[in-house]
Amino acid sequence: MFDEPSAQLPLWSDRDATDGWGIRESRRARRLTVRVFHSGRVEVVVPARTSRTTIERFIERHRSWIEKKRAEARRNAMPAEAFPPQTIELSAAGEAWRVHVAGGKGRARLEPVAPGLLRLSGDVSNARAVQQALQMWLIRRAADVFAPLLERTAREMNLPYRRLAVRRQRTRWGSCSIRGTISLNCCLLFQRPEVLQYLLIHELAHVRHMNHSARFWDLVAQHCPDCRRLDRELLDGWRRVPSWVFRDCREPA
Ligand SMILES: [Zn+2]
Repeated sequence: MFDEPSAQLPLWSDRDATDGWGIRESRRARRLTVRVFHSGRVEVVVPARTSRTTIERFIERHRSWIEKKRAEARRNAMPAEAFPPQTIELSAAGEAWRVHVAGGKGRARLEPVAPGLLRLSGDVSNARAVQQALQMWLIRRAADVFAPLLERTAREMNLPYRRLAVRRQRTRWGSCSIRGTISLNCCLLFQRPEVLQYLLIHELAHVRHMNHSARFWDLVAQHCPDCRRLDRELLDGWRRVPSWVFRDCREPA
């Protein structure tokens, strides 16, 4: 979804720094573009060596559009979630986990004690530690859920991969390396099962075609006729990810 960040220009102004504006210089950008994220953050991407004046004029020209999008983002903002979460719904796996806060001493830890039941024990007033325990569990659970699905899909497509890696990433859902390592984002657990299945097919198709050529998409479509629509659904998939997965939860519960 993102270009690699190149040289960063300073933030727009002091006010904007707190207000979530950023200007990013990109070597690949051919023209100025602006996007407003669901969080309300605004990012202006500019070709290398664009002058301040050009950037200012660009923003002025698009200011009403930007403000409209930011207002929309504020309206759509998710209601504040409880932390620690009381339930964790992993749509892709058809699972809903209840989090039982047992308390106790020591660093927060999270363990499954029954199907659909997690016990959170230890000092839960350390929100950061609770969050890390949740994140670690999420990655482990994702690996357990993804591995058999990926294996089965690889067999069906007759495309071998070397290794599965599960990561927690903010910007990409999956990747396939030249050496055949398939990386999957643990946040796929929050997507619909069809969406996860599509992404497995997408990454496995990269074992044969390391690009997004017409032949690549033909192969994906052979195994997933609805691939284009499911791919678009992933653009919005970040909205299904609970805030504890990325945002710092430093406030006590
Ligand atoms: Zn791809």
